[in-house]
Amino acid sequence: MIMKISDLNSENNNVSLKLKVLSVDKREIKSEEKSKIYYYGLVGDETGVIPFTAWEFPDVIKSGDVIEVKYAHLKEYRGKFRLYFDSRTEIMVKPGENIEIKNTYKDLKIKDLNPVTPFVTVSGKVTNVTKRENDKTGTIYSGYIEDDTGRVRFSSFGVPLENNRFYRIEGARVSMYSNRIEITVSNKSVVKEIESDMNLERNYKIFDIKNPVGGINIMGFIITLGEKSGIIKRCSVCNKTISLNVCPDHPDAGINLDIFAYFTIDDGTGFVRATAGKDAILPLININENEIARKASIIYNEMYKKLYGHAFKFTGNFIKKDDELDFQVIKANSITDDEIKIEMVEMENELS
Ligand SMILES: [Zn+2]
Repeated sequence: MIMKISDLNSENNNVSLKLKVLSVDKREIKSEEKSKIYYYGLVGDETGVIPFTAWEFPDVIKSGDVIEVKYAHLKEYRGKFRLYFDSRTEIMVKPGENIEIKNTYKDLKIKDLNPVTPFVTVSGKVTNVTKRENDKTGTIYSGYIEDDTGRVRFSSFGVPLENNRFYRIEGARVSMYSNRIEITVSNKSVVKEIESDMNLERNYKIFDIKNPVGGINIMGFIITLGEKSGIIKRCSVCNKTISLNVCPDHPDAGINLDIFAYFTIDDGTGFVRATAGKDAILPLININENEIARKASIIYNEMYKKLYGHAFKFTGNFIKKDDELDFQVIKANSITDDEIKIEMVEMENELS
Protein backbone atom coordinates (compact mmCIF):
# COMPACT_ATOMS: atom_id res chain seq x y z
CA MET A 1 0.00 0.00 0.00
CA ILE A 2 1.33 3.43 -0.90
CA MET A 3 1.55 5.71 2.12
CA LYS A 4 1.82 9.48 2.48
CA ILE A 5 4.63 11.21 4.39
CA SER A 6 2.10 12.47 6.94
CA ASP A 7 1.21 8.82 7.73
CA LEU A 8 4.78 7.99 8.76
CA ASN A 9 4.70 7.93 12.54
CA SER A 10 6.56 4.84 13.74
CA GLU A 11 9.64 2.88 12.70
CA ASN A 12 8.79 0.59 9.82
CA ASN A 13 10.83 -1.63 7.48
CA ASN A 14 8.31 -1.89 4.72
CA VAL A 15 7.35 1.59 3.52
CA SER A 16 5.98 2.28 0.06
CA LEU A 17 5.74 5.89 -1.12
CA LYS A 18 5.42 7.98 -4.24
CA LEU A 19 7.83 10.89 -3.87
CA LYS A 20 9.35 13.83 -5.62
CA VAL A 21 13.11 14.10 -5.23
CA LEU A 22 13.83 17.64 -3.95
CA SER A 23 17.59 17.29 -3.57
CA VAL A 24 20.17 14.55 -3.88
CA ASP A 25 23.87 14.56 -3.01
CA LYS A 26 26.44 11.85 -2.72
CA ARG A 27 29.30 11.37 -0.34
CA GLU A 28 32.17 8.93 -0.21
CA ILE A 29 33.25 7.21 2.98
CA LYS A 30 36.80 5.91 2.82
CA SER A 31 37.99 3.14 5.05
CA GLU A 32 41.32 1.26 4.93
CA GLU A 33 40.33 -1.44 2.45
CA LYS A 34 37.66 0.16 0.33
CA SER A 35 35.50 3.21 -0.16
CA LYS A 36 31.73 3.33 -0.24
CA ILE A 37 29.39 5.90 -1.71
CA TYR A 38 26.10 6.85 -0.16
CA TYR A 39 23.40 9.29 -1.22
CA TYR A 40 21.32 11.68 0.85
CA GLY A 41 18.81 14.44 0.28
CA LEU A 42 15.17 15.44 0.61
CA VAL A 43 12.03 13.91 -0.83
CA GLY A 44 8.46 15.13 -0.53
CA ASP A 45 4.82 14.56 -1.42
CA GLU A 46 1.52 16.43 -1.04
CA THR A 47 1.67 15.99 2.74
CA GLY A 48 5.24 16.89 3.71
CA VAL A 49 8.99 16.67 3.23
CA ILE A 50 11.41 14.10 4.73
CA PRO A 51 15.19 13.49 4.50
CA PHE A 52 16.58 10.25 3.12
CA THR A 53 19.81 8.28 3.08
CA ALA A 54 20.41 5.71 0.34
CA TRP A 55 23.12 3.03 0.15
CA GLU A 56 21.84 2.13 -3.29
CA PHE A 57 20.41 4.80 -5.54
CA PRO A 58 20.11 4.91 -9.35
CA ASP A 59 22.59 7.49 -10.61
CA VAL A 60 20.17 8.77 -13.26
CA ILE A 61 17.72 10.14 -10.70
CA LYS A 62 18.03 13.88 -10.16
CA SER A 63 16.10 16.47 -8.23
CA GLY A 64 12.66 17.10 -9.70
CA ASP A 65 12.11 13.43 -10.63
CA VAL A 66 9.11 11.55 -9.28
CA ILE A 67 9.91 8.07 -7.95
CA GLU A 68 7.96 5.19 -6.52
CA VAL A 69 9.69 3.47 -3.65
CA LYS A 70 8.96 0.04 -2.10
CA TYR A 71 10.55 -1.66 0.91
CA ALA A 72 12.10 1.53 2.27
CA HIS A 73 12.97 1.74 5.98
CA LEU A 74 11.72 4.44 8.30
CA LYS A 75 13.88 5.12 11.35
CA GLU A 76 13.60 7.64 14.11
CA TYR A 77 16.62 9.50 15.41
CA ARG A 78 16.35 12.22 18.09
CA GLY A 79 12.64 12.61 17.47
CA LYS A 80 13.02 13.02 13.72
CA PHE A 81 12.16 10.50 11.03
CA ARG A 82 14.37 9.63 8.09
CA LEU A 83 13.93 7.25 5.17
CA TYR A 84 16.64 4.69 4.34
CA PHE A 85 16.96 2.96 0.97
CA ASP A 86 19.16 -0.14 0.75
CA SER A 87 19.71 -3.12 -1.57
CA ARG A 88 16.25 -4.50 -0.70
CA THR A 89 14.52 -1.21 -1.63
CA GLU A 90 12.92 -0.93 -5.07
CA ILE A 91 13.08 2.49 -6.71
CA MET A 92 11.22 3.18 -9.95
CA VAL A 93 11.38 6.47 -11.86
CA LYS A 94 8.02 7.84 -13.04
CA PRO A 95 8.85 9.96 -16.09
CA GLY A 96 6.47 12.79 -16.88
CA GLU A 97 4.75 12.72 -13.47
CA ASN A 98 4.70 15.57 -10.99
CA ILE A 99 3.76 16.00 -7.33
CA GLU A 100 2.74 19.28 -5.71
CA ILE A 101 4.90 19.42 -2.59
CA LYS A 102 3.64 20.62 0.76
CA ASN A 103 6.40 22.68 2.31
CA THR A 104 7.10 22.82 5.98
CA TYR A 105 8.40 26.21 7.00
CA LYS A 106 11.01 27.00 9.60
CA ASP A 107 9.79 29.14 12.50
CA LEU A 108 12.11 32.15 12.60
CA LYS A 109 12.46 35.28 14.69
CA ILE A 110 12.40 38.48 12.64
CA LYS A 111 16.04 39.36 13.31
CA ASP A 112 17.06 35.99 11.84
CA LEU A 113 15.18 36.43 8.55
CA ASN A 114 17.49 36.07 5.57
CA PRO A 115 16.72 35.50 1.86
CA VAL A 116 18.89 32.35 2.14
CA THR A 117 15.77 30.80 3.75
CA PRO A 118 13.11 32.18 1.39
CA PHE A 119 9.99 30.63 2.94
CA VAL A 120 9.43 30.80 6.69
CA THR A 121 6.91 31.04 9.48
CA VAL A 122 6.93 34.32 11.44
CA SER A 123 4.75 35.58 14.28
CA GLY A 124 4.33 39.19 15.29
CA LYS A 125 2.34 42.36 15.65
CA VAL A 126 1.15 44.20 12.55
CA THR A 127 1.30 48.04 12.47
CA ASN A 128 1.11 50.98 10.01
CA VAL A 129 -1.16 49.14 7.58
CA THR A 130 -2.05 50.85 4.32
CA LYS A 131 -4.25 49.42 1.61
CA ARG A 132 -4.17 49.88 -2.13
CA GLU A 133 -6.02 48.33 -5.04
CA ASN A 134 -4.30 46.75 -7.99
CA ASP A 135 -6.18 45.56 -11.07
CA LYS A 136 -4.03 42.50 -11.50
CA THR A 137 -3.40 41.32 -7.94
CA GLY A 138 -6.39 42.72 -6.03
CA THR A 139 -6.00 44.48 -2.69
CA ILE A 140 -2.44 44.87 -1.41
CA TYR A 141 -1.94 45.49 2.31
CA SER A 142 1.45 46.86 3.37
CA GLY A 143 2.87 47.75 6.74
CA TYR A 144 5.24 46.46 9.40
CA ILE A 145 5.35 43.24 11.32
CA GLU A 146 7.38 43.13 14.51
CA ASP A 147 8.26 40.62 17.19
CA ASP A 148 10.50 40.74 20.26
CA THR A 149 13.62 40.72 18.02
CA GLY A 150 12.95 43.19 15.19
CA ARG A 151 10.63 44.78 12.68
CA VAL A 152 10.34 44.36 8.88
CA ARG A 153 8.03 45.59 6.16
CA PHE A 154 5.45 43.28 4.68
CA SER A 155 3.25 43.26 1.59
CA SER A 156 0.19 41.05 1.63
CA PHE A 157 -1.46 40.20 -1.67
CA GLY A 158 -5.16 39.70 -1.01
CA VAL A 159 -4.81 38.55 2.59
CA PRO A 160 -6.11 41.28 4.97
CA LEU A 161 -3.90 42.04 8.00
CA GLU A 162 -5.17 44.54 10.57
CA ASN A 163 -3.36 47.08 12.72
CA ASN A 164 -2.27 46.16 16.24
CA ARG A 165 -3.17 42.50 15.91
CA PHE A 166 -0.80 39.58 16.28
CA TYR A 167 -0.56 36.98 13.54
CA ARG A 168 1.27 33.78 12.84
CA ILE A 169 2.12 33.57 9.12
CA GLU A 170 3.19 30.23 7.66
CA GLY A 171 4.85 30.35 4.28
CA ALA A 172 5.83 34.01 4.26
CA ARG A 173 8.39 34.79 1.58
CA VAL A 174 11.60 36.58 2.59
CA SER A 175 13.34 38.94 0.17
CA MET A 176 15.62 41.96 0.10
CA TYR A 177 14.07 45.19 -1.07
CA SER A 178 16.06 48.45 -1.16
CA ASN A 179 18.69 47.12 1.24
CA ARG A 180 16.21 45.79 3.79
CA ILE A 181 14.58 42.50 4.61
CA GLU A 182 10.92 42.38 3.64
CA ILE A 183 8.29 39.63 3.71
CA THR A 184 5.48 38.85 1.29
CA VAL A 185 2.20 37.19 2.25
CA SER A 186 0.04 35.55 -0.41
CA ASN A 187 -2.97 33.28 -0.59
CA LYS A 188 -0.50 30.38 -0.38
CA SER A 189 0.48 31.52 3.12
CA VAL A 190 -1.50 30.29 6.12
CA VAL A 191 -2.38 33.30 8.31
CA LYS A 192 -3.85 32.94 11.81
CA GLU A 193 -4.57 35.60 14.40
CA ILE A 194 -2.89 34.77 17.72
CA GLU A 195 -2.77 36.05 21.31
CA SER A 196 0.60 37.40 22.37
CA ASP A 197 2.26 39.41 25.12
CA MET A 198 5.67 39.62 23.50
CA ASN A 199 7.96 42.44 24.59
CA LEU A 200 8.49 44.86 21.71
CA GLU A 201 11.26 46.89 23.38
CA ARG A 202 14.21 45.53 21.43
CA ASN A 203 17.57 46.39 22.97
CA TYR A 204 20.59 44.98 21.22
CA LYS A 205 24.34 44.84 21.22
CA ILE A 206 25.79 45.71 17.83
CA PHE A 207 27.57 42.36 17.78
CA ASP A 208 24.22 40.52 17.83
CA ILE A 209 22.80 42.12 14.68
CA LYS A 210 23.43 40.03 11.57
CA ASN A 211 20.56 40.96 9.22
CA PRO A 212 19.04 44.24 8.01
CA VAL A 213 15.96 44.53 10.22
CA GLY A 214 14.33 47.59 11.74
CA GLY A 215 12.96 48.90 15.02
CA ILE A 216 16.15 48.18 16.97
CA ASN A 217 17.54 50.02 20.03
CA ILE A 218 21.25 50.22 20.65
CA MET A 219 23.23 52.17 23.24
CA GLY A 220 26.64 53.48 22.36
CA PHE A 221 29.12 56.30 21.94
CA ILE A 222 29.53 58.35 18.79
CA ILE A 223 33.21 57.80 18.07
CA THR A 224 33.52 59.58 14.71
CA LEU A 225 31.49 62.37 13.11
CA GLY A 226 31.70 62.70 9.33
CA GLU A 227 33.09 66.12 8.38
CA LYS A 228 30.52 66.61 5.62
CA SER A 229 27.70 66.29 8.14
CA GLY A 230 25.56 69.39 8.38
CA ILE A 231 23.11 71.17 6.11
CA ILE A 232 22.02 69.60 2.85
CA LYS A 233 19.72 71.01 0.18
CA ARG A 234 16.77 69.14 -1.21
CA CYS A 235 14.50 69.76 -4.19
CA SER A 236 11.06 70.78 -2.90
CA VAL A 237 9.41 68.62 -5.58
CA CYS A 238 11.33 65.32 -5.67
CA ASN A 239 13.11 65.65 -2.29
CA LYS A 240 16.41 64.52 -3.84
CA THR A 241 19.63 65.95 -2.49
CA ILE A 242 21.03 68.62 -4.77
CA SER A 243 24.62 69.78 -4.84
CA LEU A 244 24.11 73.06 -6.68
CA ASN A 245 21.21 75.40 -6.02
CA VAL A 246 19.00 73.81 -8.64
CA CYS A 247 17.49 70.36 -9.19
CA PRO A 248 18.39 69.02 -12.67
CA ASP A 249 14.86 67.58 -13.02
CA HIS A 250 12.91 70.52 -11.51
CA PRO A 251 14.84 73.72 -12.26
CA ASP A 252 11.96 75.95 -11.11
CA ALA A 253 11.36 74.16 -7.82
CA GLY A 254 12.25 75.61 -4.47
CA ILE A 255 14.93 74.34 -2.12
CA ASN A 256 14.37 72.86 1.32
CA LEU A 257 17.12 72.76 3.89
CA ASP A 258 17.68 69.53 5.72
CA ILE A 259 20.18 68.15 8.18
CA PHE A 260 22.25 65.07 7.61
CA ALA A 261 24.85 63.44 9.82
CA TYR A 262 26.99 60.37 9.42
CA PHE A 263 28.96 58.91 12.25
CA THR A 264 30.19 55.72 13.87
CA ILE A 265 28.58 54.21 16.96
CA ASP A 266 30.57 51.93 19.25
CA ASP A 267 28.92 49.97 22.06
CA GLY A 268 31.84 47.91 23.28
CA THR A 269 30.77 44.82 21.29
CA GLY A 270 31.35 46.38 17.89
CA PHE A 271 30.80 49.46 15.83
CA VAL A 272 28.46 50.43 13.04
CA ARG A 273 28.27 53.21 10.46
CA ALA A 274 25.21 55.31 11.06
CA THR A 275 23.27 58.12 9.40
CA ALA A 276 20.66 60.47 10.84
CA GLY A 277 18.39 63.19 9.51
CA LYS A 278 16.96 66.34 11.02
CA ASP A 279 14.26 64.65 13.12
CA ALA A 280 16.95 62.83 15.09
CA ILE A 281 19.62 65.56 15.09
CA LEU A 282 17.80 68.87 15.70
CA PRO A 283 16.52 68.00 19.22
CA LEU A 284 20.06 67.01 20.21
CA ILE A 285 21.55 70.38 19.17
CA ASN A 286 18.63 72.50 20.45
CA ILE A 287 17.90 74.07 17.10
CA ASN A 288 14.45 74.02 15.54
CA GLU A 289 13.63 73.63 11.90
CA ASN A 290 12.95 77.33 11.23
CA GLU A 291 16.38 78.28 12.55
CA ILE A 292 18.39 76.05 10.21
CA ALA A 293 19.17 78.78 7.66
CA ARG A 294 19.93 81.42 10.28
CA LYS A 295 22.17 79.15 12.33
CA ALA A 296 23.82 77.48 9.33
CA SER A 297 27.31 78.62 10.28
CA ILE A 298 27.23 77.03 13.73
CA ILE A 299 25.41 73.79 12.98
CA TYR A 300 28.45 71.61 12.39
CA ASN A 301 30.14 72.93 15.52
CA GLU A 302 27.01 72.31 17.58
CA MET A 303 26.81 68.79 16.24
CA TYR A 304 30.45 68.20 17.04
CA LYS A 305 29.99 69.54 20.60
CA LYS A 306 26.77 67.66 21.38
CA LEU A 307 27.34 64.40 19.50
CA TYR A 308 31.03 63.53 19.20
CA GLY A 309 32.22 61.44 22.14
CA HIS A 310 28.79 61.33 23.78
CA ALA A 311 26.59 58.37 24.63
CA PHE A 312 23.05 57.89 23.31
CA LYS A 313 20.28 55.40 23.15
CA PHE A 314 19.50 55.12 19.44
CA THR A 315 16.39 53.72 17.78
CA GLY A 316 16.59 52.90 14.10
CA ASN A 317 16.79 50.47 11.24
CA PHE A 318 19.65 48.34 10.00
CA ILE A 319 20.10 48.25 6.23
CA LYS A 320 22.54 46.25 4.13
CA LYS A 321 24.78 48.25 1.82
CA ASP A 322 27.79 46.90 -0.06
CA ASP A 323 27.52 43.74 2.04
CA GLU A 324 27.84 45.69 5.29
CA LEU A 325 25.21 46.67 7.80
CA ASP A 326 24.51 50.38 8.27
CA PHE A 327 22.24 51.88 10.89
CA GLN A 328 19.67 54.55 10.06
CA VAL A 329 18.92 56.48 13.23
CA ILE A 330 15.29 57.55 13.67
CA LYS A 331 15.61 58.85 17.22
CA ALA A 332 18.45 59.43 19.65
CA ASN A 333 18.22 60.19 23.36
CA SER A 334 21.17 61.34 25.44
CA ILE A 335 22.23 59.03 28.18
CA THR A 336 24.86 59.76 30.74
CA ASP A 337 28.28 58.23 30.50
CA ASP A 338 27.50 56.48 33.78
CA GLU A 339 24.44 54.75 32.37
CA ILE A 340 26.38 53.34 29.49
CA LYS A 341 29.35 52.43 31.68
CA ILE A 342 27.01 50.37 33.85
CA GLU A 343 25.72 48.68 30.69
CA MET A 344 29.22 47.86 29.60
CA VAL A 345 30.25 46.48 32.99
CA GLU A 346 27.17 44.25 33.02
CA MET A 347 28.10 43.04 29.61
CA GLU A 348 31.64 42.22 30.65
CA ASN A 349 30.24 40.21 33.53
CA GLU A 350 28.02 38.29 31.16
CA LEU A 351 30.93 37.49 28.91
CA SER A 352 33.29 36.37 31.69
ZN1 LIG B 1 13.66 67.61 -8.14
